[in-house]
This record gives sequence, C-alpha cells and structure tokens, in this order.
Amino acid sequence: MQNVESVNLENDACKQCGLCYGRKNVVNGKGSLKAKILFVSEWPGSPEDRTGDISEGPIAKELFRMLGKAKISSYDVFLTSTVRCIPKAPPPVRIRKPDKAEIDACAPYLDKEIEAIKPNIIVPMGTLAVKRVLDRVVTINNTRGTEIWSEKYNCKVIPIYHPLVIRRRPEYEGFTIEDLRRIRISSEYPELTPRREGTYKIITTIEQFYKLIERVRVYISSYVKVYMTSMLKKYSFILIDNSVIN
Ligand code: SF4
Repeated sequence: MQNVESVNLENDACKQCGLCYGRKNVVNGKGSLKAKILFVSEWPGSPEDRTGDISEGPIAKELFRMLGKAKISSYDVFLTSTVRCIPKAPPPVRIRKPDKAEIDACAPYLDKEIEAIKPNIIVPMGTLAVKRVLDRVVTINNTRGTEIWSEKYNCKVIPIYHPLVIRRRPEYEGFTIEDLRRIRISSEYPELTPRREGTYKIITTIEQFYKLIERVRVYISSYVKVYMTSMLKKYSFILIDNSVIN
C-alpha cells in the first residue's frame, strides 16, 4: 500500500464501547484521502491490533493482491473497518463478532472517514460490513457484486466477500476479481452505472447457465448451482450482464 494517509479522528484513547478493554491499538482506516473506492472490512485481527496499522496486516495484503489482478491502483483506494478495536473472546475462540451496540458506538468514526473522503463507491467486505453500511438486514451472499445506491452516503455501494474468506475459499477468487474489475469501471462514475438496452443475455434453462459458466471458465460452487436453479424455477429467466461474459 503506497498512499497511507489517515483521517484525523483523535480516537486513540476511545472508550465508547467495551472493545477498548481488549485492544492494544485503535486501528483506523488508511489509504488515499482522494480515493474513489473506500473498502470497509469487519474488525481488526491480532496483527493489525499489535501494530495499529490496517495497511500492514493480512486483510490489506490479501485485498491488495486481488486489487493488483483487477488493475485497481492503490492511489484510488482507502481501507477501513466497521469497528476499530479487536473484538477479543476467551479461548479457544479468541476473536468474536462485534455486537450491535459496539458497531453503533464505532459508527461515527466510519461516517467521518466517508464524509472526509467522499468516495464514488463504498465496498463493504463481508456480511457484518454490508449490514453496517446499508443499515439493514442483508447477507453478503445476496448482495455480493450488486450495485446499490446509498442515500445516507450519497454514493454507490458494491459488496464483495471478505479477503480472508477468499484466502480460505480460493474458489471464490475468480468472481471476486470480476467484481473488483466492475468496481474499477464503476468507480469512474459518481452516479449509478446506467443499465443500457441490449447489454444482457437472457438465460432460461440451467443447461444454458452451465454452458455460460464453462465459456467464461468460472468455477461455481454447489451452493451457487442450487441457488441459480431455485432462481430459475422462481423467475423462469436470469439476466446476465454482458460485461461479465465478454
Ligand atoms: S471499537 Fe470503536 S467505539 Fe469501541 S472503543 Fe474501539 S474505537 Fe471506540
């Protein structure tokens, strides 16, 4: 990560929630203050907690490896978190998900970063981050790669899987790189990317869908196959954006 500026939040001694008792350091966002794309992770892990630096830990390393493949410049990126203190739990778990009260307590810091940077796109990574950014009950599985307008932040939101999930599930990497490529193109426009006539392929059978997947050489898990089959049964067709195919 080359550009490592931070928004001045003056929260090094923050005690707004109970996560302050387990942390070594508050981990704020870092990156370009002129970033078009603002990535929101879930919480800092032990390496980020030790150094207080989100740009040096495994989340940033994995994310920037994929950004390189999607040709997204680090000058266009700011990386931050939903909460800024590690949510420690007793062994053997050691780390737990932050609860709603902790996420709400930390919300003003993320809001200040978004307000200072004014990105064209916010990219929440993982279910907890998507819920926080959209402020509603959603999952990463039903929002991933979708372009959603945020009235609150006055910009687009496109969720992706969390980088550490992709490290555990390498079969997710192919479509995540595709999501990132579309994010790069979409980041050039502040408004929602217009959906033009004739840019979609209509899929009406699961066989057509499998053929398409073969053609673009994307690995799809059995979960996605079951999901697509049920979508076809429910709606009789699926529109696939041609930018995914070409
Ligand atoms: S998680 Fe956020 S609100 Fe809670 S103590 Fe840390 S910086 Fe403060």
